[in-house]
Amino acid sequence: MKHEIPHIGLPKDEVLEQLRKMRLHDVDYNAGKVWSLVYPYSAEHLDFVKAAFNEYFSENALNPMAFKSLKKMEHEVVRMAANLFHGGDFAVGTMSSGGTESLLLAVKTYRDLWRSKNETLWNKIRGSKNQFPEMILPESAHIAFNKASHYFDVKIVYAPLDENKRVNVSEVEKLINKNTILIVGSAPSYPFGTIDPIAELSNLALKYKLPLHVDACVGGFILPFIEKNNRSLPLWDFRVPGVTSISADIHKYGFAAKGASVILYRSMEYLRHQFFANSEWTGGMFISPALLGTRPGGAIAAAWATLMYMGQAAYIQNAENIMQTTDKIIQGIKNMPELKLVGTPHASLFAYNSVSPDVDIYAIADQMEKKGWHIDRQQKPACLHGMVSPVHANTADQYLSDLREAIDFVKQHPELKNEGNAAMYGMMAKLPMRGMIENELLNLMEQMYSVEGQTPDLDSDRKDFKTQMASLLIKMKDKVDGWMK
Ligand SMILES: *Cc1c(COP(=O)(O)O)cnc(C)c1O
Repeated sequence: MKHEIPHIGLPKDEVLEQLRKMRLHDVDYNAGKVWSLVYPYSAEHLDFVKAAFNEYFSENALNPMAFKSLKKMEHEVVRMAANLFHGGDFAVGTMSSGGTESLLLAVKTYRDLWRSKNETLWNKIRGSKNQFPEMILPESAHIAFNKASHYFDVKIVYAPLDENKRVNVSEVEKLINKNTILIVGSAPSYPFGTIDPIAELSNLALKYKLPLHVDACVGGFILPFIEKNNRSLPLWDFRVPGVTSISADIHKYGFAAKGASVILYRSMEYLRHQFFANSEWTGGMFISPALLGTRPGGAIAAAWATLMYMGQAAYIQNAENIMQTTDKIIQGIKNMPELKLVGTPHASLFAYNSVSPDVDIYAIADQMEKKGWHIDRQQKPACLHGMVSPVHANTADQYLSDLREAIDFVKQHPELKNEGNAAMYGMMAKLPMRGMIENELLNLMEQMYSVEGQTPDLDSDRKDFKTQMASLLIKMKDKVDGWMK
């Protein structure tokens, strides 16, 4: 279809009506049947956050001299987060547009810090085809680090996980070499909800004088409150001496508007390598703290307002409610002999797989989707993922009973693992040529962003590879960061 800006604009009501209609086929996150992407809190809370966002709808944090209000709010959000994470009087940082931007910034900062201290080695590496600065990641680290690697030419070296799905620290030590610029741990990891052994990683970081970034994008605004409910957690924040930076998203368990994260460093010694300054531009002298140019004021105002309005008491109570729901679901899964938790989750995220040869976990996912759930499938190992929000208090029992039914149904219908998405996932896991799959994924992106802007057709009966890939990708879209959102 050919799209043109209408010559004469349409009536407001008609346009708004179109907006509402387009939403009809989206996932319904308020019903508590979705386990990622959106963090619903309450209708009243949403109204408040929208009001705060709209107050600063037009303001632009690109120029903090022009909008001193936003500068002040960003400063206060960073200070509040620094205190929450025990950063003392020296921790500094900036806000960013989300977890991905915070992680991109961390990798860029440490690359440039390393470069400033190792100019000779840096030049040598730049002249060599197969040497790069390296960062050591747990296998469970977020995919945004891969994006950072792709953008900033920092090579990823993976450290394997232990049986609890925490990074194996002695394996990390073996991977350290002269090109290492950074060690990473997660609190918790997105796929398994486990907190890496940050204290042990910190010992390594101090021993080898390396920076240690803790990715608390999902955990930053819930772990401190879980701890305040006297639930025991391993230490992961600035109380651990080798931790040099922390990323934490306010648009996840902080319940702010989307577009709000913080990246904090132990001191200015690190943060200074994040900044950009240029005095030669024809448009004038220019400075910028983060990746974006124009920075939406609404997201900053909403983050500030949400922290002020919620207060610690509500975050603490909310964390307890979420953990009670999580405990219930985890106990329910443990009670099903066919299933097993993958690793030992520390917070409100979990994953489980099948330990029964006649229960294919992806066939379970298909059955759960037939019952109206939106299920996130993971790989390595094949498992299903959950991330608990306040709304799930109302749906946890239903989730467990549907899961029980799905297991029984799949046992009676062994053919299901060779049908639908289960078959697709089973096949994909066995395909040896990962490069070929990535090429297909990139082809799919070209189709989606082509002039026609195709949306892959899930319900198509055609069984060619591309269609199957497309339907697989639809299911995986939550995992393919920033994809089609
Ligand atoms: C969500 C998440 C990110 C990325 O955050 P976005 O806001 O989606 O860009 C990074 N790390 C972890 C552990 C996450 O859960």
